[in-house]
Amino acid sequence: MAHSSSCQYIPSDTHVPGLAAVHAEQLSFSFHENNVQFAVENASFDIEGGKITAIIGESGSGKSTLLRLIYGLLEPTSGTVRYKGWQIPTRKDKLIPGHDSMKLVSQGFDDLNTYANVWDNVASQLPNTDIKRKQDKTAEILQRLRIDHLAKKRVADISGGEKQRVAICRALINEPEVLLMDEPFNQVDASFRDTLQQDIKDIVRDTGLTIILVSHDPTEVLALADNLIVMKSGKILDQNNPHVLYSEPSHPYTALLLAKSNILNPEQAQTLGIESEKSIAIHQEWISISTTEESSFFVKDSKFRGFYYEILISNNTVDLHCITTSQLIPKKNQAVDLTISNWIAFD
Ligand code: ADP
Repeated sequence: MAHSSSCQYIPSDTHVPGLAAVHAEQLSFSFHENNVQFAVENASFDIEGGKITAIIGESGSGKSTLLRLIYGLLEPTSGTVRYKGWQIPTRKDKLIPGHDSMKLVSQGFDDLNTYANVWDNVASQLPNTDIKRKQDKTAEILQRLRIDHLAKKRVADISGGEKQRVAICRALINEPEVLLMDEPFNQVDASFRDTLQQDIKDIVRDTGLTIILVSHDPTEVLALADNLIVMKSGKILDQNNPHVLYSEPSHPYTALLLAKSNILNPEQAQTLGIESEKSIAIHQEWISISTTEESSFFVKDSKFRGFYYEILISNNTVDLHCITTSQLIPKKNQAVDLTISNWIAFD
C-alpha cells in the first residue's frame, strides 16, 4: 500500500533476501553507558507482514524499548534489526528519526493538538500542494475510523477512545506500511475496545498493513493479535500465536500472564496426585469443584465477576484459583472436591 520504499539507508549495508518483514537477531539495548543492565537483551524474532503482532509482558519488561528499536528511535547496543531485509536506520543514519515506511502512535496522545479540531489534526499531516487530495484523504480516513461526525470537534472535547482513533488516523493518512502502537487501548473504555479492535482488524485485512503493538494486559489482545511476543526482564521468552501460547505456554510466566494459571512446584503438584519432576501450570478453567462433606480442600475466598465467580480453594499447602459459572456458590470454609482436567509440565 505504501509509496515510501523500504530502501537502503546505511551505505555499508547489504540487502538480506528471504527474511520476515521485521527480522531481529541478538538485539540488545542498554540505557546505561557501561551496559550493565539491558532493557532489551539478545532478542531474536520475526514479525510477519500484513499481520497484527502484540508484544506483551509485565511493566518494565522492555516492550516499549523493543518497539523503539524496531522504529529506529534507539540505536541497538548490539545485534541488528531489519525491515524487508534492510537494516533499520537510527538517528545517526537519518535526519528525522523513525523509518519512513513506519508510523508510531505513542502513549498519551502527545502528538495531538488538543486545541485544534479533529479534521485539522489529521489533515495537517498532508502537504498543501494538492488541496483536493488533502480533503479527500482526510475525509476517507476519518470515515474509515468512524469519526467523521467529530470532524469539527476540538480534540480536548472528545473521549479517550475517540482520541485514539484520531491518533490512528494521523498515523495512517500517509499510508505507512507498518503501524507501531504503544499501549493503544490504555485510555479506551473497555466497552469501546472491541469495536476499535474490529476496525483495526478490518484495516489490516483490507490494506495489508502490518501492526506491531505493545500491551501490558494480554487479555485485551488475545482476540486481536495474530502473533504474540512475550517479554520478561528484557528477554523474549515465548513467541507464537495466541492459541498455542494460551494452551501450551512454554514458561510459567506466559501461563500466568495469559491464563492467570496456577503455578505449582513438584511437591505442591504431588498433593493433588500429580507426579511431575518439573513445575506445572493448571489453568483456572481446568479445575472443577463440587461441594462435599469432607475434603482436604476448602473454599478460602470467592469473588463475584459477573457471569462467573473466581473461587480460591486451599488445602493449607496449595492455594488454587478456579472459576465457576454455577449460581450455587460454595460458602467460605465449605469442603470441596476438585477434578483437574488438564495440566502442563514445564521443561
Ligand atoms: P515496558 O514498556 O515493558 O514497560 P520499557 O521498555 O519502558 O518497559 O523499560 C525497560 C527497562 O528500561 C525498565 O527497566 C526501565 O526502567 C528502563 N528504561 C526505560 N526507559 C528508560 C530511560 N529513558 N532511561 C533509563 N532507563 C529506562
